Amino acid sequence: MGSDALSLLLHGYRTQQQEEEDEEELQELADDWSKSAEVCSACGDALHYTEEVVQLQIFMSYRGPNNEVVLVPVQDDEGDFAYEPQYLEFDCWESLTEDLKSMIEDEPPVGHPRELLECSYCKSSICEWEIFATSYVGELHVSRRCPDNTSTSTFAAMSTPYVTCLSCLLFQSYECDLWTEELSQTGECEECSHARCWRAQGCSCPCHAGRSD
Ligand SMILES: [Zn+2]
Ligand SMILES: [Zn+2]
Ligand SMILES: [Zn+2]
Ligand SMILES: [Zn+2]
Repeated sequence: MGSDALSLLLHGYRTQQQEEEDEEELQELADDWSKSAEVCSACGDALHYTEEVVQLQIFMSYRGPNNEVVLVPVQDDEGDFAYEPQYLEFDCWESLTEDLKSMIEDEPPVGHPRELLECSYCKSSICEWEIFATSYVGELHVSRRCPDNTSTSTFAAMSTPYVTCLSCLLFQSYECDLWTEELSQTGECEECSHARCWRAQGCSCPCHAGRSD
């Protein structure tokens, strides 16, 4: 092969390689551009704008003056969220949900006459001021309200909420700890949470020793 032919071949190869690199770079740029600041709480992958995601939040509830159910975020002593909202990729949330369903399939629902909400999974009662999680399917959108041009995410819900009782949240946490903070109603142990012992007086579990609740 003459050296001219060889350099032509090399040139052709380089151009093709360059094109591929350009394409990759563009793809990466597009990827970065659509990346939100949030990551999936289950697997740690970046969440993209307009991707189907699930928002989980911890609430308590009470019966409002017009018989409506009012949700209140659980706050710490400083008035901040005691549990930050968590975001999950739809697939990760779905697999966690499937695992939960199989873990509780033999658990009979625990009803209560003062039920305010029903757990979407175990069908047990959730009463006033008991903590639970809501999960909404939706999308993260760019919110442009920041004056310094940095983008933050807002969540747009596109479904009615699923409701998860504390007991089910604890089952789910065996699979994946979504919150770093301990989940409990009054600082009780997990067994007491599952038994919802605060509904009755006189639980003799040692976890209440020295506590006033
Ligand atoms: Zn994930
Ligand atoms: Zn439940
Ligand atoms: Zn206990
Ligand atoms: Zn107890």
